[in-house]
Amino acid sequence: MGKPREKEPTLDEKYSLPDLQEVKCPRCETGTIEVNRTLHQLPDKEEILILLMECNSCSFSRNDVIPLHSAFQPGIYTLHITDGDLTAKIFRSPTGVITLPEADFEIEPGSAAEYLITNVEGILNRMIQWSKVMLKQYSEHEQEYQKIQSTLNILMECLDGTKNFHLILSDKEGGSYVLTTNESTLYIESISN
Ligand SMILES: [Zn+2]
Repeated sequence: MGKPREKEPTLDEKYSLPDLQEVKCPRCETGTIEVNRTLHQLPDKEEILILLMECNSCSFSRNDVIPLHSAFQPGIYTLHITDGDLTAKIFRSPTGVITLPEADFEIEPGSAAEYLITNVEGILNRMIQWSKVMLKQYSEHEQEYQKIQSTLNILMECLDGTKNFHLILSDKEGGSYVLTTNESTLYIESISN
């Protein structure tokens, strides 16, 4: 009988990655997304995390690659969108708060907060959807109605690329991440606990 081998720390332990909560499939809306995480070391020794997300019910799948030097640390991610490119990926943990200051709009994590994996366009569409619901609710209140209407107009301009704006993802606990192909548009400020 050989000596028991020293147990290697798991990927999650090594990087204190947050536990992933169940995420509903964005395509079929019935299946659950299964996330497979693999660590990969690049030739320059930088480690990256590859996320493979697959629905257990339909054929939906996607890959994300996340550089680990800054990923998932508590921080404020500020994305400045000036060219109408809405493809940056947003990975919001249950503790992350998303704000769009130009429209004075904030998405706070609800009581059933869960991981939100989408892109900037997905966030804008969500905000637009909510604004439209609010408009109906406040149709009798002149002042509020005007304010929501102007927020909605700004959001529409952000969506069609005619307005430059900031998207801020703030996460004091860590677990959130913004991934863009254009690094110069992203500013990361770390928060130390
Ligand atoms: Zn599905």
